[in-house]
Amino acid sequence: MADRISENLQNKISARLRFYQDIGIDLFYRSRSASASSSPPELSAVQPERVISASVSVVEYSETVETFAVSESSVEESPAFEDTLPRTSRKPVLPPAPAFQVPAPPKIVLPAPKSGLFDASEKISGDSLLKIRDDIGDCTRCKLHKGRNKIVFADGNPKAKLIFVGEGPGRDEDMQGLPFVGRAGKLLTSMIEAMGLQRQDVYICNVVKCRPPENRLPEPDEIKTCSPFLLRQLEVVDPKVIVALGACAAQTLLQTTRGISHFRGQWQEFRGRKLMATYHPAYLLRNPPAKADVWKDLQMVMAELGLERRGAKSTSAGKTS
Ligand code: SF4
Repeated sequence: MADRISENLQNKISARLRFYQDIGIDLFYRSRSASASSSPPELSAVQPERVISASVSVVEYSETVETFAVSESSVEESPAFEDTLPRTSRKPVLPPAPAFQVPAPPKIVLPAPKSGLFDASEKISGDSLLKIRDDIGDCTRCKLHKGRNKIVFADGNPKAKLIFVGEGPGRDEDMQGLPFVGRAGKLLTSMIEAMGLQRQDVYICNVVKCRPPENRLPEPDEIKTCSPFLLRQLEVVDPKVIVALGACAAQTLLQTTRGISHFRGQWQEFRGRKLMATYHPAYLLRNPPAKADVWKDLQMVMAELGLERRGAKSTSAGKTS
């Protein structure tokens, strides 16, 4: 077999084999008869297929060394997650694929109400929550007084930076005289706690103070009669952010007839304060998937107030002064 190899090729192979030995991989091609020797085998003792195999092995080895070297250098720049993977599981770091750009929906900012509901309610000098409650008294100003059990004024921190406004009391609220204490109220409490707050850190009230029969929506004349009390509450508490729960509260405060889904999740302005309209907890009980939208809205509120998520100690939404 060796006779068929030219002298020039033999010299080249011999030089290559010595190189293999120099770099310590001569065992790849060493013949059995020469395995005990530390010196390079004679070319005649080497089987050509082993030489070919040795060449392939060296190429593979070289590629392996090169690949690993690349991998090692890339480890320095890999994110921590990659460092946790076993070396054999590491994959080449590919450039990020260009993100598919979804055009953002147009932002809807409702114009600030210039006239209407609160025109007659000028800011009252020296006003207080106690005075507002006294002014309500045993109110009979609108027809809702006929079916109510208790007037539901408000609950929570009278100096809160965050106010939740609902539409009106339900059955449980009417019985207890407190807002949001039924099933929807328990969900609202969970939402507040998920924001890293306690119920007593925020202020909670409604557009109308008496329960509409059969839990129907308050009617325009009832809203017009009762909501000036709400306006006074907002002025006295002076929150940084108002969250309007449901269409009734949002439309009342923003003086609009647009559906809440058109402007929910976008900051609105109410008398110099930021207002976020979101879905009512009662709606979430009927439609749980909408909780995700509400949570997005509440996270915007949290960011505005500098709040951290549940688990982090924070009471910054409640003023202590
Ligand atoms: Fe008075 Fe308001 Fe009750 Fe109507 S809803 S009776 S205005 S407190």
